[in-house]
Amino acid sequence: MLYVREHEKDEAAGGRRPHGSMVTELVPREVRRPMALNLMLMGPPGAGKGTQARRLARGFRLPHIATGDILREAVEAGSPLGRAAAAIMDAGRLVGDDIMIGIVRQRLERPDAATGFVLDGFPRTVPQAEALDAMLDRRNPLVVIDIAVDDADIVRRLSKRRVCTACGTIVGAAEANPPAVCPDCGGGLVQRRDDRESVVLERLAVYREQTAPLIDYYRNRPTFRSVDGSPGPDEVAAAVADAAHGRSVRRTA
Ligand SMILES: [Zn+2]
Repeated sequence: MLYVREHEKDEAAGGRRPHGSMVTELVPREVRRPMALNLMLMGPPGAGKGTQARRLARGFRLPHIATGDILREAVEAGSPLGRAAAAIMDAGRLVGDDIMIGIVRQRLERPDAATGFVLDGFPRTVPQAEALDAMLDRRNPLVVIDIAVDDADIVRRLSKRRVCTACGTIVGAAEANPPAVCPDCGGGLVQRRDDRESVVLERLAVYREQTAPLIDYYRNRPTFRSVDGSPGPDEVAAAVADAAHGRSVRRTA
């Protein structure tokens, strides 16, 4: 029996793909997935983690499990955990490990997560990470992808970000020259309070302090991968997809 590798077929068919096809190439429409792909994205505020998690989930046809979303769903559904979370949030406190772990566990038990998932925002603490390991005991190992962007770069990016006062569209972070008015509705653009340098630096300090133990927890695993988050979103998406596949170096076919 003769097997032909994908890249050999490509070469036989005439080789090079048109420029700019890299992202579609790395996140193919038909992903063969003999085993579950359990992915977790980490990254500082402003690193584009949410965007990358959504793209990754779409590319691999996996559910994107963002803690903010599943917390809101649990509260709206009025489940016991949701009601407990709502009471805590109404009191202005942060939802603790036990409730977050319970909500994530229930979400991972749903059938669509059986072939894998992209976790976004969980775990945030070492106890949460330990609980996740216990949940995944009989499943494939967790692939942890850390999107690394240095603080100065994040401050620079967020300083350019503006939000439309009329429709809420966010513009500018990835562009050299942010537009003067909203490209969607022509409304006025303002800087969000959260994007001011002093606030950004404070959020980053909190993030580094909270995340350092988590990075230590995962760092020595063969399934821990760090991706350079400083280039544009398309390039980062390609690198994140590579990392999810377990390729550390991008193939140039
Ligand atoms: Zn607008």
